[in-house]
Amino acid sequence: MNSRSYASLPERFFARVAPTPVAQPRVIKVNLALAAELNLSLKGFRGEGDAAFFSGNVLPPGSVTIAMAYAGHQFGHFVPQLGDGRAILIGERSDGHGRLWDIQLKGCGRTPYSRSGDGRAALGPVLREYIVSEAMHALGIPATRSLAAVTTGESVRREELLPGAILTRVAASHVRVGTFEYFAARRDFAATKILADFCIGRHSGRLAHDEAPYLAWLREVIARQAALLADWMQVGFVHGVMNTDNMAISGETIDFGPCAFLDAFDPAAVFSSIDEHGRYAYSNQPHAAAWNLARLAESVLTLLHEDPARAVDLAQQLIESFAGQFADRWLKGMRRKIGLSVEEAGDRALIEDLLDAMHRNQADFTLTFRGLSNAVTDPQPIGEARVSFEHSRDYQEWVQRWRVRAAREPMSPAARAAAMRQVNPAYIARNHRIEQVIAAAVEQRDLAPFEQLLAVLSQPYLDQAAFAAYANPPAASERVLQTFCGT
Ligand code: AMP
Ligand code: MG
Repeated sequence: MNSRSYASLPERFFARVAPTPVAQPRVIKVNLALAAELNLSLKGFRGEGDAAFFSGNVLPPGSVTIAMAYAGHQFGHFVPQLGDGRAILIGERSDGHGRLWDIQLKGCGRTPYSRSGDGRAALGPVLREYIVSEAMHALGIPATRSLAAVTTGESVRREELLPGAILTRVAASHVRVGTFEYFAARRDFAATKILADFCIGRHSGRLAHDEAPYLAWLREVIARQAALLADWMQVGFVHGVMNTDNMAISGETIDFGPCAFLDAFDPAAVFSSIDEHGRYAYSNQPHAAAWNLARLAESVLTLLHEDPARAVDLAQQLIESFAGQFADRWLKGMRRKIGLSVEEAGDRALIEDLLDAMHRNQADFTLTFRGLSNAVTDPQPIGEARVSFEHSRDYQEWVQRWRVRAAREPMSPAARAAAMRQVNPAYIARNHRIEQVIAAAVEQRDLAPFEQLLAVLSQPYLDQAAFAAYANPPAASERVLQTFCGT
């Protein structure tokens, strides 16, 4: 076992538990490109050995299997004991760059942290996580990856009986804000130090020799989250359940439960059935992230300074820096989205006015920005994004201002359009498409739509003429208003 392995930490960090074998595992999908990055030689679709491996029925030789302990604030309420209730870490793999990746089976049976849960996952949520996590990665946004999905040949009972499945998840690590809270709540400050050292070793090695390594590390964790949240906002991603146990220290998007991408732009958009008060609504996400980071900072105060008052000051300064870092990153990204490379004072207002107009007109978030990218070189003064607006006048007025501003840009229109198409995806994992994929898989055992959607989303910035329909928003009858947790 590698000394950077989670399983090399003291016993109180996890429970030793093996996957519970399943009746008849079948491979749905193996991510061969990711497998190659991890130097795993897999046979792919038909390999029976792969099904045994990805179901947990057969473990790699010498593997140490563990469920990680963590706590978490769920919708603002602290729960001191959560932990991997349906996921088991089966080991790590090194990639070609010497980075270590956790390999975890999700849905592979009960653990000491399962509480009343069955430790299993249904096929629908497994497909959803597979699609969205890989789509995020293809968009260039840090996210846990999906290495494989298998069906188990067993049913799981939710509201109804559903086919069971297991997802193999790959992450830079699975340490969460809630992992720190777990130890801090027990006043086990030796453990928070061990955990911080683990995270530094795993993700921020060069900080180990910093004068104040824990402060530098916390600063880096905060910076990563500010960047991640800006990335989410710029593709219209709504995580849905940003509890502290669903925020990874690595800066990867993790736990794709009731997540969704916006179709029509609405800052107050909420999809998750359990988010009754909109705590994790689209535009609240940066605040939720800062709130979670404050819980992290509280959990590691003893590492920040020996004087408790000074530690609080330092933590507060760092937490307060989140908003500015997020806003900077957001503005930079939004400038790129509307094709501006030089900074002018009026840019923020121009961007905010576009978003306001999009909201008033229920304009599709993704189509609007992609349409603007094409409008740069379009001889028509208005361009195709207009179709997405209820009142084309609102669009026209804004576009006229935008064209005046863009005339001061140094790049050629063709270069600007190309740059915009690099940051404004044509294809996102639209909810109605995901639902169609799940319905076909669950009701007809047809995985072709799943494969097709994955293929389209693997090149989100490329126009794919044969699959143009995948760029379309849902018809009124296809609109998905609510999403559900995977449990
Ligand atoms: P989530 O909100 O889905 O990230 O899960 C919150 C907590 O519930 C975590 O501790 C999960 O491990 C646990 N959990 C979720 N689903 C199940 C299940 N089917 N069986 C056991 N534990 C579960
Ligand atoms: Mg979770």
